[in-house]
Formats: sequence, structure tokens, C-alpha cells
Amino acid sequence: MQTNFTPEQLADPEIKVANDILRSCVHCGMCTATCPTFVTLGDELDSPRGRIYLIKDMLENNRPAQDEEVLHIDRCLSCLSCMTTCPSGVDYMHLVDHARVHINQTYKRPLTDRLLRDALAKILPYPTRMRTALALANLGKPFARLLAGDSQFFKRLRAMLALAPAKLPAAQNLAGTTHKPQTTQKGRVALLAGCAQQAIAPSINTATIDLLTRLGIEVVIPASAGCCGALVHHMGRHDEALAAARNNITAWSDPTLDAIIVNTSGCGTVLKDYGFLLRNDPMSDQAAKISAKSMDITEYLLKIYQPNQPAPNLTIAYPAACSLQHGQKITAAPKTLLAKAGFKIVEPKDPHLCCGSAGTYNIMQPDIAATLRQRKLDTLQAKHPDIIAAGNIGCLTHLANPSTPTIHTIELLNWMSGGPRPAGVPADLSK
Ligand code: SF4
Ligand code: SF4
Repeated sequence: MQTNFTPEQLADPEIKVANDILRSCVHCGMCTATCPTFVTLGDELDSPRGRIYLIKDMLENNRPAQDEEVLHIDRCLSCLSCMTTCPSGVDYMHLVDHARVHINQTYKRPLTDRLLRDALAKILPYPTRMRTALALANLGKPFARLLAGDSQFFKRLRAMLALAPAKLPAAQNLAGTTHKPQTTQKGRVALLAGCAQQAIAPSINTATIDLLTRLGIEVVIPASAGCCGALVHHMGRHDEALAAARNNITAWSDPTLDAIIVNTSGCGTVLKDYGFLLRNDPMSDQAAKISAKSMDITEYLLKIYQPNQPAPNLTIAYPAACSLQHGQKITAAPKTLLAKAGFKIVEPKDPHLCCGSAGTYNIMQPDIAATLRQRKLDTLQAKHPDIIAAGNIGCLTHLANPSTPTIHTIELLNWMSGGPRPAGVPADLSK
């Protein structure tokens, strides 16, 4: 694609990167067929190619974002399905990240939108605040019918209330803890304990630590490590995202760590991008090292996982989280491990399409998210699974439904390695 940035504009290293990305797009349109928002809405401006044109026009003209760009870029899930499809290797992720920062810096959103975004950015990355918010959301659930209006604001509030679990699990505080191996030590890793996940499903971290230590791995969770920054990063809140990254890079600077383990794939994609995010920062070298050490838990387990008990006869439907399959290109490891554990694995039709969770997307874009959720649940349940398993808390929460339990992959692997049956698996299923 031809671009028309001036030499002065190209002197800005961020614009230089955007220019290189834009020029790599040959506008063939192959990405449109696998873009969930184009498939759902049928509007070219809700396709990757359409968004690329909008971003090009906005940046080339060096003008504040307008309503049209904000509408269509906000609707992008950042699922990165387009990057998997694109034959020209267009780095859409960094282009849309740049556009979001530009929007955040130049566009004044309506008041309710600003308040909601501020609240999400100030609450979700902090487990204690998140827990308090979930408790309040549960108290508010009986009054949800008072929010019956069709306005986007009411729909977003209803979507937030719907995500709160009916019963809050016990609080978990892993900060500053070290978990010794249960057998001869084979490795030492840091675990990203996560933020929202700790409040919603602490059992995921418990199972991760249980399994790793049983396999001979020491697990440390430095007291100063915090949220990975993904939530604010996807809102274009660049400085907050960089601050989160710098904080974690310092927290994980111990050279004896073999890996930084992530069990929330949305966070893993951002950790692996710290090197790019901080490429012009004094901490660029350390950032690149942390990115190189970051691993999804399934990548790390691939060589060392051993089940030690016969699996019950259960069929697991595996909806690949976009951040794993498109963001990190991890497609086989989770299925290989679940099969090694003895489960039968089935996959939904159109596995490349996002379920609609996408961080805070299911709150901010409730209609599109609900359509994608129903599509994903229909394709999953067409395979008649006993359990739906995924490697990302966002997908698990979003796909929660009354008929099929949604369980994190690591809890199933830990169970077959001698850990407890995951609380979400009914006892009569596991016989
Ligand atoms: S598939 Fe790639 S090159 Fe083709 S329009 Fe989409 S982003 Fe551009
Ligand atoms: S990231 Fe996903 S929603 Fe956004 S343009 Fe690409 S395929 Fe479409």
C-alpha cells in the first residue's frame, strides 16, 4: 500500500513503524473472511483492511481521531485472526495498538464512556479492588432489571453484572511467596499471578503451582510483580501500560529464573511484546530478556508433563483462545497435553473465530460479544462435550453456561497428575 507521510512525520519512530506496517499491506482482502467483526457485521470498515485504511488516513493527516475511526477501531477485538490469515505478514497488532494510543490522546469520549473506562482501568488490574467490585456487583444483581434500557451504557452495566460469579471464591494472596518442589528440583520459574483471575478463579494459580512443584519446579511470585498491563494497553493508555511493564521487568530480574510462566494467555501475548513496547526505553534490553523468557504454561509443560492416573472417559471441547492461537501461535501444545492426560479432544467449527471475550470487550461491546459468544457456544455444544477447556480466564468466564462446565486446561492436567478434581467438574461426570 502506498503511503504519503512527510519526512518530518517519518522522523517519529512510532510513525516510522506504522508506515512500514501500512506499506506491507497489499489490500488483497484475504483477512476479511476470518475477521469476526466482518463476519458478524458485514461492513468493510469492520474488517482488518477497512480499519487499516481508516488508521492510514488518520495518521497521514496527523489529525485527531474522529467518531468513525473510534467506532470501528473500538469494535476490533484485537483477536489477531487477521494476522494468522494475512499472506503478506502485516503486523496489524502493532498498528492497531498505535491507533488506540492516538485515539486515547486525541479523542474526547462521552462522559459515561470515560467514567467506565477509568473505572475498569483503576479496578481490574488490582485483585483486592476487583474482589470488592465483584462483591458489590453481586449485591447489585437483583437490581439489574432496573437497568432495562437499550442504551449502550445500561447494556455495559448489565454485561458487567453478568460476569460476576454467583459465589466469590476465598481471597488469594500469593505475592511474595515461594513454592518448593515436591521432588528433586528440575527448574525454577516465576509465575505471573494475574489480577482479575486471582479474584475470579484463584483455583487456576493453585493448580498451576501444585502441578509445577509436583514436577520438580520451584515457583516464585515476587511481591512487587503486578498486572501485566494488557488491560490498559488495549485501551490505548500507553504510559500506564509501560509503567506496568517496567514494574514487572524489575520484579522478574532474578537471573536464576528459567522462565516467566503465564496461565492467562491474554497476558502472555503482552509479556512477549514487552521487548517491542519498551524498544526505545532505557530498559529495552531487560524487556527483551523478559519477553524471551515468557512462556505459556502449556509451552513449558510440553517436555515435562506426566499424568499418573487413568483419565475418566470425558470429552473435552477446546475453544482455542485467540491470544494463544493467533497472538502467540500456540496451537498444538494444549491439545497435546490434554490428549496425553487421557481426555478425548474435540474442537468447534470455525476455531479461528473469537468467542467475544477479548479482555474488556464483552463489557464495552456487549452486542457483538453476545453474538460471538452464542456462535461459539453453539459450535462447541454441537460436539456434545462433557467439559469446555481453555487457557484464558476471559474465555472461561465469557463462555460460562448452565449445561457444560468451563474449566482451565491446567486444572484438568493437574487433576490427572494427582491433584484434586477441579471444583467445576461434577463428581458424577468424573466416574
Ligand atoms: S490479508 Fe494482509 S495484505 Fe491482505 S488486506 Fe488483509 S492485512 Fe492487507
Ligand atoms: S484483530 Fe480480530 S477483530 Fe480486529 S481486525 Fe483483526 S481479525 Fe478483525
